[in-house]
Amino acid sequence: MKTLLTYLICWLTLGSLCAQPALLLRPDRVFDGEVMHEAWDVLVRGNRIEAVGQAGSLKAGDARFIDLKGTTLLPGMIEGHSHLLLHPYNEVAWDDQVLREARSERVARATVHARNTLLAGFTTVRDLGTEGADYDDVGLKQAINKGVIPGPRMVVATRALIATGSYAPKGFSPDITVPQGAEEADGHDALIQAVRRQIGKGADVIKVYADYRWGLMADARPTYTLDELKLIVEIAKSSGRGVVAHAGTAEGMRRAILAGCETLEHGDAGTPEIFALMKQHGTALCPTLAAGDAITQYRGWKKGVDPEPERIKQKRATFKQALDAGVTICAGGDVGVFTHGDNARELEMMVDYGMKPLEVLKSVTSTNADVFHLTDRGRIKTGLLADLVAVEGNPLQTINSLKKIRLVLKGGDDVKP
Ligand SMILES: [Zn+2]
Repeated sequence: MKTLLTYLICWLTLGSLCAQPALLLRPDRVFDGEVMHEAWDVLVRGNRIEAVGQAGSLKAGDARFIDLKGTTLLPGMIEGHSHLLLHPYNEVAWDDQVLREARSERVARATVHARNTLLAGFTTVRDLGTEGADYDDVGLKQAINKGVIPGPRMVVATRALIATGSYAPKGFSPDITVPQGAEEADGHDALIQAVRRQIGKGADVIKVYADYRWGLMADARPTYTLDELKLIVEIAKSSGRGVVAHAGTAEGMRRAILAGCETLEHGDAGTPEIFALMKQHGTALCPTLAAGDAITQYRGWKKGVDPEPERIKQKRATFKQALDAGVTICAGGDVGVFTHGDNARELEMMVDYGMKPLEVLKSVTSTNADVFHLTDRGRIKTGLLADLVAVEGNPLQTINSLKKIRLVLKGGDDVKP
């Protein structure tokens, strides 16, 4: 009876007497996903942003006032490249995570990784492959969406696709069949089936390895042919899903660009010609600077003490070439190689490697939202999801402000440690 009465009152008053609880946020400044505004307020109602404007100018009514003095408010950050089912390789090598850790252990760890990611202000992740843990990202995403565990909104790739034999723990006798880090599929029919199977199981995006260190050769080499990559893109696209390619070699990158992949991951051996081709085709680059930096340190480089190894110098040079070519840059660190929750390490490195702080802020918010087709987030704008993060200080002046989290809202809910 009460419900009916409430419904009637709501209907008669057009909802104004029974609106959802509102929050009025007052930071020092607001980065709206594109521009920094000094002295702005943001009004949140329910899970959405209701209004944005000059401090004191919004009709807040019954809203609870949240004083965020000393902070900058940004859209919830979007991690472009994570693996919630991996943990840092200096703890356990990738081979051993794939071969020796129980799936239940990997999932248990992933729940902790999800929580730490959210607390770090990353309210969305594009999780690019379970690395041998089948479809466990799908269940993880559902557990988060059902409120069972705290974590970011997830865009999932599930198993990812590899050419036969190309992405596996190394160093075994050829007489042994070693589990792979992703799903092997080659050729016309098998590729079509694998893409559709992954979509059917929950993939939001299809990930493909366009090259890898393969067999006894130490260097990465292209894996799929251009025709195979085109087929993967065609099948994924016909279902409304994009394809993302792991590509480190110039030839792997070239094929992935021409096939219509939307983002290239890593791109370490890109050239000015390849970056020009990316620009021409509107392909975005997710440079994963922090992963290369972490792996080089795991191999013994003492950062800040030893001179920069060739690999790091090379990465600085190719990243600069990508910036000079005007390639769209997605922020994505390949988190999992390094610690979940330390996602902002990539953003610090983007600045260190020559990107302007404002461009880095755009990259991790509006650019990632646009490239990943997430139209309901990535900006602070009326009607969008109230995924918001307040950080101490001004990240345009000191980028590591992005690690000093004061408040995280996910869909208007205060995420507490
Ligand atoms: Zn990765």
